[in-house]
Amino acid sequence: MDRMNELIDLLNKYAYEYYTLDKPSVEDQEYDRLMQELIRIESSHPEWVRADSPTRKIGGEVISEFVKVTHDVPMFSLGNVFNEDEIREFDDRISKEFPNHEYVCELKIDGLAVSLEYKNGILFRAATRGDGTVGEDITHNVKTIKSIPHKLTENVDITIRGEVYMPKKSFERLNKYQEEHGESKFQNPRNAAAGSIRQLDSGIASKRGLDAFLYHYPLTPFKTHYESLMYMKKLGFVVNPNIKLCKNIDEVLEYIDEWTQKRSSLPYEIDGIVIKVNDIDMQRELGYTAKVPKWATAYKFPPEHVLTRLTDIIFTVGRTGQITPNAVLEPVRVMGSTISRATLHNQDFCIQKDIRKGDYVYIYKAGDVIPAVDRVELSRRNGTETPFEMIKYCPMCGSKLKKREGMVDFFCENIHCPARKIEGLIHFVSRNAMNIDGLGERIMEDFYNYGFIKKISDIYRLNSKREELIELEGFGIKSVDSMLENIETSKHNSLDRLLFALGINGIGAKTAKILCKYYTSIDSLMSANSTELSNIHDIGPILSENIVNYFKDENNLKEIEELRNLGVNMSFTSEETIEDETFKDKRFVITGSFENLTRDEIKAYIEKRGGLTSDSVSKKTDVVLVGEAPGSKRDKALELGITIWNQEKLFEIMGIVEK
Ligand code: NAD
Repeated sequence: MDRMNELIDLLNKYAYEYYTLDKPSVEDQEYDRLMQELIRIESSHPEWVRADSPTRKIGGEVISEFVKVTHDVPMFSLGNVFNEDEIREFDDRISKEFPNHEYVCELKIDGLAVSLEYKNGILFRAATRGDGTVGEDITHNVKTIKSIPHKLTENVDITIRGEVYMPKKSFERLNKYQEEHGESKFQNPRNAAAGSIRQLDSGIASKRGLDAFLYHYPLTPFKTHYESLMYMKKLGFVVNPNIKLCKNIDEVLEYIDEWTQKRSSLPYEIDGIVIKVNDIDMQRELGYTAKVPKWATAYKFPPEHVLTRLTDIIFTVGRTGQITPNAVLEPVRVMGSTISRATLHNQDFCIQKDIRKGDYVYIYKAGDVIPAVDRVELSRRNGTETPFEMIKYCPMCGSKLKKREGMVDFFCENIHCPARKIEGLIHFVSRNAMNIDGLGERIMEDFYNYGFIKKISDIYRLNSKREELIELEGFGIKSVDSMLENIETSKHNSLDRLLFALGINGIGAKTAKILCKYYTSIDSLMSANSTELSNIHDIGPILSENIVNYFKDENNLKEIEELRNLGVNMSFTSEETIEDETFKDKRFVITGSFENLTRDEIKAYIEKRGGLTSDSVSKKTDVVLVGEAPGSKRDKALELGITIWNQEKLFEIMGIVEK
C-alpha cells in the first residue's frame, strides 16, 4: 500500500507539472512506466483504490485565469498498449463482442486535445480538454490557427474534436527565440503547444506557428468513424492524411510497423498510433470506462534509440567536484529534441561498454531528460576508433583527481575549482532549488565569466547591475526585469529550498524537507550537533557530519549572513506544514462555490490540519463540503450516505464569523 500511495503522489505531481504548468520534469516513458506499475497494484488490490488515483482522472486542473467551459459530451483520454501482445489482447476483448469489425488507425499527434463548437457553420467556441468535463475557453487563441476554419462549408451546428500541435519547424524557431531573449526553452513541441494555447494574450499564440488535425465527431450521425472523418474534411477541417482503414488486427500491426519506421520523417511529433473501432454502433455498445473509451486504444512507441557518431569524449566537473565523461555527438533528434551531448556516467561504464572515440552509438532518453549512451554498434567500427582513457587531472584547474572510498567516480578535490563554482551556482537557481526562471545554465556561465556572479549572494546583488545587463547581447529591458523580479521572488522561498540550493553534500530536496520539520530556522539547524542530527530518521552519521562541517566553514557562514542581509528568507514556511491534526486522515470532497473563499484555500486549510482532499466522491469519502451550485457530487454523497457540510458548518469549523 505504501508503494501505491507513493506512486499516486508522484504521478499526481507529474500530471500537475505536465497538464497545468506545461513543464514536465520527467519523460513520458517514465510517467507511463510508473502508471503501469500503479495499474498493476490497483488491479490486484481493488479495495485499496483511492478516489484521487491518476488511473481515474483525466488531464489536469482547470486554472482559474480562463473562463470555464463545460463539455456537452465529456472528453476522454485513451488507454495505452505497449507491445504486440497487448494490442492482440485489446483486439480479443473487442472480438469477443463483435467477431467482425474494422479499425481505423491514426497517428497519435503529440499536442493537446481541443473541442471546437460551431453554430450555424461559424466557430463560436474552442476549449481545452481540462479534466474531461470542464475545460478552458481558448477561443481567442484557436482563432489564430490558420488551418482551423472560422466558417464551415455547411451551416451546421456541430462539435468537432482534434489536436492542436506545434510543427517541428515552429518549435525550433520558438526555442531559438526563447534562447536569444534569455527566456527558458520549451522541452518538447507538446508543452510548447500547450503553453502557447493557454496564453491569455492571443498575440503570443498567433506568432507561434500552431497547427491542428481534427479526428473526432462526438455525436456523429454516420455509421462509421471513417465516414465521419470524410465528412469533417468536406466541412473544411484538416484531417490527417495518413489515416488507414484496417480490416483486421494484422493490418493494424503492419500500420504500426510502417509508422515506427517513418515517424521521424514527419514534420510534427507523434508519440504513438491510435486504434479505433470503425463502426459507430459498436463504439456505442462498447462504451467507456471512467477515463477512456473501450472502443479505442493508443499504442505508445518505445523510447527511441537513435544511432549517431561519437566524435569526442569530454570531461565535466560537477558542483561536488565529481568528474563525468560526456559523449560529444553528431547532432541527432531523440524524442523531440536535438541531442549533441550525452552522459557516459563514469570510467567503469565506458570500459564495460568499450566506448571508443569515433564509435557509432545508440542514444536514448529514459527516466529523466538527460540523454545517455546505451551501447556501441560494433558492426560500424573501422579500426580508426580510439579506446577510452580516463583523465588524471581536473580539466578546469589541473588538480590531481582522486577516487573517493567506495565510489566509482573520480573527484577534483579543489573547492576553489571554477567548474565546481559554476555548477554550484547553476544548482542554486535550478527548478527544485531556488527556482529562478530566466537564469539558465548558459546565462549563469556567462555571468560567472563576466564577473557578475562569483558567489551565490551575488545573485541577489544583480539588481545593482541592471543597466549593464540590459546592454548585454540577447538581453533587453523586459527579460532583465523579469529575471530580477524572479530573483526577488525567490527571496521568499521556504528554508527547505534554500538548504537544498546551498549544495551541502548529500542533502537532496527530500532530505532538506525532513530537516526543516525538525529545524524550522537556519539558526536552529546551524547549532545542531551531529549526534542530535543522526537521531533523525533518514539522516545517517555521514550526512550529519557533512551538515556540521558545512556550518563550521567560515566562508559558508559568511555567505549565509550575506544572504540574510540581502533579505533571503531563512525559515521554513512551506504550505505543506501540518499545523494540527483536527482532520487527520479524513477524506474531503469539495463541490460548488463558497463565499469569500476559493476551493484552493479550503483545500489548503484542510490539508494543513492533516486532512486529505480528492475530486470524486466514493465510499471512502468522509465529508462532502457543499457550496453554491454543487452538482452531482452532492447527489452521490446523499446516495452513499456520506456526511455533508454546508458553508455555515465549514465557516463555523474554520472560525469564520459570517456577517
Ligand atoms: P494520451 O496522450 O495517452 O492519449 C489521449 C490523447 O491523445 C487525447 O486526449 C488526444 O489529445 C490525443 N490524440 C492525439 N492524436 C489522436 C487521435 N488521432 N485520436 C484520438 N486522440 C488523439 O492521454 P493523456 O491523458 O492526454 O495523457 C497521458 C499521457 O501523457 C501519458 O501516457 C504520458 O505519456 C503523458 N504524461 C506525461 C507526464 C510527464 O510528467 N511527462 C505527466 C502526465 C502525462
